[in-house]
Amino acid sequence: MVQAPTVVGTRLHEEDVSALLASQAALQRLVPGFRFNLGFSAKYYHHGTVLENRGDDALLKNREHFNWFCHMWNHQQPHLYNNVTHLEAEMTMNKQFAIEHGIPTNSCYSVSPHHSGVYPVHEPLYEAWRKVWDVKVTSTEEYPHLRPARIIPQQPVDIPLAIVSFQMIEMD
Ligand SMILES: [Zn+2]
Repeated sequence: MVQAPTVVGTRLHEEDVSALLASQAALQRLVPGFRFNLGFSAKYYHHGTVLENRGDDALLKNREHFNWFCHMWNHQQPHLYNNVTHLEAEMTMNKQFAIEHGIPTNSCYSVSPHHSGVYPVHEPLYEAWRKVWDVKVTSTEEYPHLRPARIIPQQPVDIPLAIVSFQMIEMD
């Protein structure tokens, strides 16, 4: 990821969402069925600038065009939690947001903020993922180097991997 989640001025505006849809449509002509896979951290919903908040609305309005995955409620790194109950509670808050806003919750995919806990494995993360989100697939990048970010699937992935969340565009 490229910015701390509290930083404003890094998030999508309405025209960015339009560009995302246009890029997706272009890629779909090359790769039938291609969809961006958007991670969301719902705590930051409508916590940007006015233009960014409109971007949030535009993303939600177009939610059916994208795939979605839980990126933790508050973009916290899961390896900082030793308590699986706490992890589950935060994931459940994000899931509740998804349900309330009509975001599909059936992708069976997730990746954590900074790819924390994916590898080396933080067992409470996998336990909470399975329990709350039925996660079956994840990915990570070239450990132990977080930057520059280069996505490398850690396990077989049958859906395209990309970017985005309510708090920022990122490439982590
Ligand atoms: Zn992130």
